[in-house]
Amino acid sequence: MDKIEHIGIAVKNLENSNSLFASLFGKEHYKTEAVESEGVKTSFFEVGPNKIELLEATSENSPIAKFIEKRGEGIHHIAFAVEDIRSEMKRLEKEGFTLLNKEPKNGADNKLVAFLHPKTTNGVLIELCQDR
Ligand code: ZN
Repeated sequence: MDKIEHIGIAVKNLENSNSLFASLFGKEHYKTEAVESEGVKTSFFEVGPNKIELLEATSENSPIAKFIEKRGEGIHHIAFAVEDIRSEMKRLEKEGFTLLNKEPKNGADNKLVAFLHPKTTNGVLIELCQDR
């Protein structure tokens, strides 16, 4: 696993949060993208070498809607860059971690992504991402 690729933050209203985080960071987000398979709309900020992803649910069944219902807005996941997502998924499964998806799927920002179940990672949702 390499560096932290981005940190994902669940928000209720993307537009409001875009302007909130633009004030915080002193710059605008550089892209907005819908990921229909996940039922989310996302936006990305670049902060020095780091990225922050804001996520808003687009449907009630979205994992983000459920997260906000249970825990409110806040940090949702930490994403780590990997070179080869399939071999990393195999390695982690062997180590006893539970993967939320068996195959990598298309995520935002031109990435292939996979998630680890937070019950096997001390409550932290971990995303692996590889450049597509
Ligand atoms: Zn993410």
